Order: sequence, then structure tokens, then C-alpha cells
Amino acid sequence: MGKIIGIDLGTTNSCVAVLEGSSGSGDPEVKVIPNAEGARTTPSVIAMTASGERLVGQVAKRQATANPEATVHAVKRLMGRKFDDADVQKHAASVSYRVVRHENGDAWVDLRGKELSPPEISSMVLAALREVAERFLGESVTDAVITVPAYFDDAQRQATKDAGRIAGLDVKRILNEPTAAALAYGLDRREAQRIAVYDLGGGTFDISILELSDGVFSVKATGGDTHLGGEDFDVRLIDKLAEEFAKQHGVDLRKDRASLQRLREAAEKAKHELSSSLETEINVPFIGVGPSGPLHLERPLKRSELEILTRDLVERTIASCKAVMADAKFQPAQIDQVVLVGGMTRMPAVQRAVREFFARDAHKGVNPDEVVAVGAAIQGAALGGAIDEVLLLDVTPLAIGVETGGGVFTRLIPRNTTVPTEKSEIFTTSVDNQPFVPIHVLQGEREMAADNRSLARFELSGIPPAPRGVPKIQVTFRVDANGILGVEARDLGTGRSQSTHVTPASGLTHAEIDRLVGEGEKFRETDTLRRDMAELRNQAETLLYTTEQALEAYSDLLPPEKVESVRMDLAELQRLLGSGGDLQAIRDAYTRLENATFEIAEAMYGGGSPG
Ligand code: AMP
Repeated sequence: MGKIIGIDLGTTNSCVAVLEGSSGSGDPEVKVIPNAEGARTTPSVIAMTASGERLVGQVAKRQATANPEATVHAVKRLMGRKFDDADVQKHAASVSYRVVRHENGDAWVDLRGKELSPPEISSMVLAALREVAERFLGESVTDAVITVPAYFDDAQRQATKDAGRIAGLDVKRILNEPTAAALAYGLDRREAQRIAVYDLGGGTFDISILELSDGVFSVKATGGDTHLGGEDFDVRLIDKLAEEFAKQHGVDLRKDRASLQRLREAAEKAKHELSSSLETEINVPFIGVGPSGPLHLERPLKRSELEILTRDLVERTIASCKAVMADAKFQPAQIDQVVLVGGMTRMPAVQRAVREFFARDAHKGVNPDEVVAVGAAIQGAALGGAIDEVLLLDVTPLAIGVETGGGVFTRLIPRNTTVPTEKSEIFTTSVDNQPFVPIHVLQGEREMAADNRSLARFELSGIPPAPRGVPKIQVTFRVDANGILGVEARDLGTGRSQSTHVTPASGLTHAEIDRLVGEGEKFRETDTLRRDMAELRNQAETLLYTTEQALEAYSDLLPPEKVESVRMDLAELQRLLGSGGDLQAIRDAYTRLENATFEIAEAMYGGGSPG
């Protein structure tokens, strides 16, 4: 088996890592793989240019201002979500690309008139990271461990797995991000301890309490907020700056997509700078136009101002910490290690709040932007047999259950149950000779089914005629190590396995995924073609130049008809390059001209005599 890479598919940034040196000499070591631009994390941003070209990562982020409607960031917030979801609506209102309702009710994205599913968009980021890893390893990569927030429900995990498949990856494991972070620390730490993982990233907040002993991790409790992250901090700053600007100039910068994008970039930059300095300068020239000409945004900003603007956001994370500690039945003093994950934990106010709550300094040593990918790579290496298996126990983030009479949600697998796990339940009919029983599977923590997330609906059909209450059908719900649900039904009367027809409540169908896998491959092909074309064009331009030089210098050594034919070959190649001819035609013309130049060379060195 090839190497299994670890991917942290983040809301704002993604990161890929791999364990190296496990087969040869030297200690195995996790390497975070830099992308083609040398950066160790890649923005989770994709864009479609006016000419239909796909851009991923830094190049996509860089052109966001000029192309706001067709640049997609934070698509992780839409993964496995319904369009009508209040969170989706909130997200849609805050971004400059268009979120639309797909025919199955899922939230999709409209990119220049083409509707794309969130897994498809995420797959572009994954494919880019896969390529980064392939270039680094010098071999093809097909297997990966991908991380998700601990709070992700079944649909969101499934969507992440689909994204991997579309990118041509066999997803060996979906791993919770905080678990991965603990794993990154646990590799060389065998002593028993309790770890709090505080993960404040670009779009999500996770707090997890893990116990580690003899290399066995178990997640005691997880909590957090899927809609709290660095972007919310940015929004506070954006709103403050925009309101001030409006008061001063009567122009709301948030109304114009390009201005908003520049404001967003400036706010994030200032936030970063205030993590290391106490004061910074916000400076965005020509951000808008007023009645008397161009307008500039210029303003000093103090760290304390940012802290005041975002104090309640930091407090919200601490409230989640309190709740999860209560769930785990621990006091803060019983925590041995605090691990910080996510770029936002560089903010001094965040570090301070965490230190105060847990009454200890957070662990340092692994980069907060990379720790999750490092853990994923370790898990990948363990699954691939490159290092000893790390036994990893995780828990279900939310209860899984079924809808019962009166629309009540009946829990079958409570939250914080260690996975893999399974639970069986006997179902029966409610009227005589009822041929089927409808079952509605949901996930969530609310008491009424309608308030929870629908995972699947299916019918147990083909039940032989019998008085009500007599048929006994055992339905087994299985949550695998990825936290993904599987359902199986068995008719206890006949002993036969019942055919359950599970219709996922959301997500892509198998056929859709297969189609997208094919499209992904086609994109790979066109990308390769584009690269080959660029290389050939470059070579051809060099050949044209050197041939022209050679003709000028040595044409009198050649018979005139030879000179004429070389000139014709030269003109033909030039024409093809200029008209954007196809690859093969250019390659042929290139070869013809190249052969002709060999003849010139022969003539120069006296190989052939004229005539
Ligand atoms: P992540 O999802 O872990 O990549 O976290 C990204 C978030 O961390 C974004 O909101 C960034 O703006 C934020 N971030 C990155 N570096 C810093 C920094 N030095 N200070 C404050 N926030 C940062």
C-alpha cells in the first residue's frame, strides 16, 4: 500500500502531512508538506475565472476581490447542510458567492451559472493537496485520513467522505479534529493524562476532553459551536470599520462586493498583526468613491479595541468549555494538558481566557495550524501499518434515534457513546396486515423529531400478513469508526434479512458521485494538457529564436531550397502558436523544425556539402 496522507480540511485553511522515514533508517517523522508556493497551509478557497478556469488555494484567494461572485470560501459551513437551515441562510447572507437550493433541498453553490455541490467544491481543495503530496513523495497517492470537527453529524461526515472520493481519494478514516490534535501530542507521550483540546479555527469552535493512557485515547466529551470562528472576529471588525466609514463618508462599504472583500482582507490582516503587536495601522486606499472623489480607509487600531469588540466571542468559547467539563464530570484542575488548535489561538486574549479557565498554560510545541494534519498523518501511518496501531476511541457527537408516535425523538444511541457502536431495536406494525413499517432516522439533541436533523427514511417492506403488533423486525443501527451510520433490518419471524431502502435525507447519490469522479479526472486531464501546452510553447519559442539566429548566420552554407523549407517550417510553427493550435499539431511542427535545425547544424559542421 502507498502512503496514507493526513488532511486537515479546514474552513479557512487546509493542511496536508505525511509520516516519513518509517521504512528506512532514521526515526519516523511527520512532515507537513509545503504547497507549490512554499506555504505549509493552503487557503480552502476555490474560484472559477471568466474563461472557465478553476483556481484553488492562494491563487484563488488572491483574485477574490476582482472575482467575488465566483470565489468560494468557507464552503465547509455548507457541507451536508440543507438550504433552509438557519445557519446556511446566515452564511449565505455573509458571503459574496451565491448559495442556492438544490432540487433535493441541499445547499449548493452557483458558480457562473453552474450549480456545484459543497463536496464537489471541497474535492477541488482535496485534489490540490493530493497533488502537493504526490509531488513531494514522487509517487501517486490514493489513500487519506481526513479530519472533521467533532460536532459534524452524519450528513456532514458523509459529505466529507464524498469530497474525498470525488478527489480520487480512498478515505481510510474520518477523524475528529481534536482527537487528531491529541494524537499529534500523544505519539511520544505515553503517561496517563487528561487533555483538553481547545480548537478555535476560521469557522468552528471545538472543545474536547480526552483521556490518554497506554497509548489509548478516549474522548470523554466533546462540545463547541459549529458557527463560531475567526471569521466572526473579522466580521466584528469589518462592521465597526464600515459603520465608522459610513458615518464619516455616507458610504456603506459592505454594499459593494469588491469593497467588502478588501475590507475583509484588511480586517483579518489587522487581527493577525495585533496578535504580536499592541497597535497596527489599517490602510486601504481607494476603497470607495464619494461625491468628491475616491475614498481611503485609514485608521490606527489598538489590540485593546479588538479585544473589546470580540470579548463576548471569547466568552462564548469559555461557556462551551464549562458545559463540556460538566459533561465529562471533571473540574478544570483535573486537566493535565491543554492543547491549542487553530490559527485563532494565536490571539493573546484567547490564550489568556484559556489559561484563566484551566488554570494552566497551554501546551506549546506543535504549530496550531498544523497540529490536526500532523495527527491525521499519524493515524494514516497507523492504519497503513507503518507504525504501531494507535487505538483510538472516539464518541458520537450527537444522539442518533428514530421518530416515534406524536413526532417524538426516541434516542437509540445517546451522544458521547464510544464508536464503533451498534444498537438494535424491535419494530412492529400498528394495524392488522400492515405490509410495511416506515422508519425515520434522525440525529440531534432536541426532544421533538422535527427539531433534529433527518438522516434517512426507509420502509421495512414485504411483511407477511399478520395481526398488528405480531411481526417483529429487528433494526440494527451501526456507527462505524468514522462516526457514519449504517442500518440493517432483520425479520425475526422468518429470520431473513429485510431489505431496507435507505434514502439519505441529503447528500449526493452514488450516481452523482461517480459522475463527479469522472469529471474530476477530466479536469486532471485538462490541467495536465494545459501544463504540457505551456511547456511546449516555451520550448517552441526558444526553438524559433535559435533557428532564426542560425538561419541568419549560416543560410549561405545551405542550399536555397533547404533555407526556404526551414523558413516555411518556422512560419508554420509560429502560426500555430499564434492561433492557439492544438497540442499535437504544435508538437508535430516543433519536431519538423527541430529536425530541420539538425540539418543546419550538420551543414555548419561540414557534415553535408551543398548540392
Ligand atoms: P484555521 O482554521 O486553523 O486555519 O484558523 C484560521 C483562523 O485563524 C482565521 O480566522 C485566521 O484569521 C486566524 N489566525 C491566523 N493567524 C492568526 C494570528 N496570528 N492571530 C490571530 N488570528 C489568526
